[in-house]
Amino acid sequence: FPPSFESSFVTQQVQASTQRHTGIAQEASRRRTFAVISHPDAGKSTLTEALALHARVIGTAGATNGKENRRETVSDWMQMEKDRGISISSTALQFSYRDTVINLLDTPGHSDFSEDTYRVLAAVDCAVMLIDAAKGLETQTMKLFEVCRQRNIPIITVINKWDRPGLDALALMDEVTERTGLIPMPLTWAVGFAGDFRGVWDLKRDEFVRFTRKNAGASLATEEHLSPAEALAQEGDAWTDALDEASLVIESNQPFSIESFHAGTGTPVLFSSAVLNFGVQHILDTLVDLAPAAGPRRDVDGTPRPVDAPFSGFVFKVQAGMNRAHRDHVAFIRVCSGVFERGMVVTHANSGKTFATKYAQQLFGREREVIDEAWPGDVVGLVNASALRMGDSLYVEEPVEFPPIPLFSPEHFRVARSKDAGRFKQFRRGIEQLGHEGIIQVLRSDLRGDQAPVLAAVGPMQFEVVADRMEHDFGAPMRMEPLPYSLARLTTHDAQAALSAIRGTEVLVRSDGEYLALFNDIWALRRVEKNSPEISLSTIGTDA
Ligand code: GDP
Repeated sequence: FPPSFESSFVTQQVQASTQRHTGIAQEASRRRTFAVISHPDAGKSTLTEALALHARVIGTAGATNGKENRRETVSDWMQMEKDRGISISSTALQFSYRDTVINLLDTPGHSDFSEDTYRVLAAVDCAVMLIDAAKGLETQTMKLFEVCRQRNIPIITVINKWDRPGLDALALMDEVTERTGLIPMPLTWAVGFAGDFRGVWDLKRDEFVRFTRKNAGASLATEEHLSPAEALAQEGDAWTDALDEASLVIESNQPFSIESFHAGTGTPVLFSSAVLNFGVQHILDTLVDLAPAAGPRRDVDGTPRPVDAPFSGFVFKVQAGMNRAHRDHVAFIRVCSGVFERGMVVTHANSGKTFATKYAQQLFGREREVIDEAWPGDVVGLVNASALRMGDSLYVEEPVEFPPIPLFSPEHFRVARSKDAGRFKQFRRGIEQLGHEGIIQVLRSDLRGDQAPVLAAVGPMQFEVVADRMEHDFGAPMRMEPLPYSLARLTTHDAQAALSAIRGTEVLVRSDGEYLALFNDIWALRRVEKNSPEISLSTIGTDA
């Protein structure tokens, strides 16, 4: 090429690359990736549907569960979910609202699946803590809150079911402060007590937003925007009470501060009735205006990977058997940087191998949709990428490894055996696969042998999922016998002999190579710690 041509070609390339970079940064800045955390029955599924109603759904991934009087959702891949009316598998829902793209990651409500929830929370940038106005902070809300705190995930607090009789708003704020340590920073405040939900005071706009129910919440509620003078004339004491209460909260704490929200010291507070669609738009607006966008993610060494770096992401969930007819295996990736393009060849950081991402899906359940592009903050399901394990990193061009997702400390242990000796091969394959998916932790020892692995779980319902999957997906029905242990600690190979000699204690090797010492109870552990201080025993990851 003549020099002039070449240089203009280079200039073009540089320009294209600059545009690409701004494009990625722009797309990242309009992504909001969050999860709703709540105790079961606080209204998570109802709120999810209400959010989707207010926004334009780009992809439905069955983020809601099918309970009575509700339309069937797409995440009913497992009969157990249907029978129990709970959502076991995490699903993702993507919708556009104003100029943003919102990725709502569903978390299972039942505490037995808290490990699964923990993984989902590793993939979000923000959480909405939904509180039932009549119940306040419940056990599961507290556990999930604790996980968010450990991961520095900013939290938006929503007091739901305000259309029903409930606690006093100020008492709820006190509970939030006392039990979570978060400073409540009201963005809206309910006008009318719980059970008489007339609307909210929008503090920023200083206006009264009056809600009127329509079709019992099946469609958008009517919102009227009134000035404080009009509100006073029409609502009287209900209005002045709202002003007084919210002002009191602000005076005794602080006004809203975005820094405090993002730093996890303060939490914006809003009021809603998900079932009537009251206050839902304010939640969406808060996500768009105030929640953090997809930003640089830190790698194992703590170095942030800029969003406009070449593509990278990590696996936060692996799931198989979602579609029985296809026996597939889907790895869900949170995109951290760059643009993901279907068919692109990515490197699996953990094995160093490359593979083509031919089958990329945005969502799953019965309704699947192939995706062509995804940006930082988005979730991609890679089908049949069976080498991918939970926590694994993927990248192109510039290598990166994101921190592993820690395992929970198991509290329930069962010995698994194949019911049918002739199907041992399927049994072994199934157990291995379910271990990889993180459905269960698999422990082995020479003493127990290959025929009888020990399954370790955070909640006993995980065993039911394993039994169901073993029978239906792997054709390997199994039996389980409970073991008397309730506590596990990490130990070393060297300590194995000493520990095994102690009654009520056993050492097994987990599939990731860690040595786990199991104890009947805390006293058994304390005895060993006291009598044999030289034995190394450390806590495992996060306690459920
Ligand atoms: P989840 O278990 O957290 O997903 O809760 P659901 O969304 O399934 O809601 C549990 C029950 O509470 C259902 O019967 C809902 O109709 C009801 N519910 C949810 N939100 C509200 C609300 O704002 N007000 C009232 N009155 N009921 C609600």
